[in-house]
Amino acid sequence: MTELERKQDRAPVPADWTYAPAPEARDIVTIEERYGHYVGGEWLEPTETYTTLSPATEEPLAEVGQATPAEVGAAVAAARDAYENGWSSLPGSERAKYLFRIARVLQERSREFAVLESLNGGKPIKESRDVDVPLAAAHFFYYAGWADKLDYAFPGRLPRPLGVAGQVIPWNFPLLMAAWKLAPALATGNTVVLKPAETTPLTALLLAEVIREADLPPGVVNILTGAGETGANVVTHEAVDKVAFTGSTEVGKVIQRAVAGTGKHVTLELGGKAANIVFEDAALDQAVEGIVNGIYFNQGHVCCAGSRLFVQESVFEPLLERLKDRLGTLRVGDPLDKNTDIGAINSKQQLRKIEELVESGVEEGAEIYQPACDLPDRGYWFRPTLFTGVGQSHRIAREEIFGPVLSVLTFRTPEEALEKANNTPYGLSAGVWTEKGSRILWMTSRLRAGVIWANTYNRFDPSSPFGGYKESGFGREGGLHGLEPYLEFEEDGRAG
Ligand code: NAP
Ligand code: MG
Repeated sequence: MTELERKQDRAPVPADWTYAPAPEARDIVTIEERYGHYVGGEWLEPTETYTTLSPATEEPLAEVGQATPAEVGAAVAAARDAYENGWSSLPGSERAKYLFRIARVLQERSREFAVLESLNGGKPIKESRDVDVPLAAAHFFYYAGWADKLDYAFPGRLPRPLGVAGQVIPWNFPLLMAAWKLAPALATGNTVVLKPAETTPLTALLLAEVIREADLPPGVVNILTGAGETGANVVTHEAVDKVAFTGSTEVGKVIQRAVAGTGKHVTLELGGKAANIVFEDAALDQAVEGIVNGIYFNQGHVCCAGSRLFVQESVFEPLLERLKDRLGTLRVGDPLDKNTDIGAINSKQQLRKIEELVESGVEEGAEIYQPACDLPDRGYWFRPTLFTGVGQSHRIAREEIFGPVLSVLTFRTPEEALEKANNTPYGLSAGVWTEKGSRILWMTSRLRAGVIWANTYNRFDPSSPFGGYKESGFGREGGLHGLEPYLEFEEDGRAG
């Protein structure tokens, strides 16, 4: 008997190499049965409510308020009062203290936030734990640092806050988008009425608790839950001076029409259909990781997702083979399991939208590929999917799917890649994979996109501005640029 056979005798080689489940405990989070609106530093009993679910199990999690026009009015009045009676005239160094405090409490309670984010939104716990929550805290830290340095940020321009900001955010990064909105608004001396998305209200409500714990003066931040109508009432309220919206291009257009001529300041962060471009000299294994991260991260519910992959023809076959192999290793399932790569689709409505667009891809003649994988019985799920044989006119190459679906196209020359990449009404982000620095510079200076990554994808940092061109919106969030939409300037001479 050989040594190996003897060992096998004692400890048989397992036939099944799948991971054992590794679920994160959910008891760190206490979910109330019912939540009100956070207005003027108090919880306001809501007149109307709806049920928020876990998209992974369809189990109801809590009853939350559906803010009425009167409740929107109360929140805006509280914000106006806080603005006029203290917050806007507080020294920046004092405002900074509150922001630092919020950031620290967020860090202290990070596990709680991560579990709640995954429960209510369906995203894998490793993403909420390693990306959403730390980046949200980093955003508060970063803007805390600017609060007392605004005069140096804009020398000679005398920055002044705008007043009350009405902020409406989507469901794909609920806590992170709240941080992107709140931190620069507060650092610059504005007060806020924030409306999270209908399907993901819970981390915004937990953030209200953190804000209370940080002793922020009442009314500086007000949080109202509700559907699109509540959002419309917030942004069109006559006492709102500044509108900050992140969401679909469709709703962005509705908002812009609604506030035209009112004198409100507006920033819109909208949809995208990013090109991720791989040249033949790119490191292919690295590119495969970037492609996977670009489109399957957060189930593809990412505005800057690399949803159109352009591959140089000479490397199409080897790249596709590696990509398909890699897709087969992605684990789809329980968002709270630490091994999960792809969690639940955020809502039934979003799942329908993905299914409908994928059907259109098949009907229009593209070739679909999905790795074999088991999906849970309940909840909203979609397999990682890629399409080859995609034409530029196909709907899957033009419309934002906002799901784990990649459209693969090819090109021969850099000029062709550029032309195809820019052939979209959107312009939020792009990726370029090549070994040549000169080609990176040539491409990035010609791609019409707000953010371009080279040999990486989906990298975020609070100091780096983010925002779009064309139908992806206007205005920047992050960095020094992210302060400007919350300020107006008295140029030195005039103020004299
Ligand atoms: P959405 O339908 O446009 O909703 C965004 C937010 O607006 C939600 O809170 C929504 O409430 C609210 N809303 C709906 N109708 C409104 C109206 N008439 N007036 C004011 N507010 C209204 O978008 P979504 O489906 O939640 O999110 C996906 C979209 O967001 C994608 O297109 C994605 O690309 C984009 N996005 C962009 C960025 C960026 O930085 N550029 C970042 C993340 C996401 P309900 O929840 O009730 O619908
Ligand atoms: Mg919506």
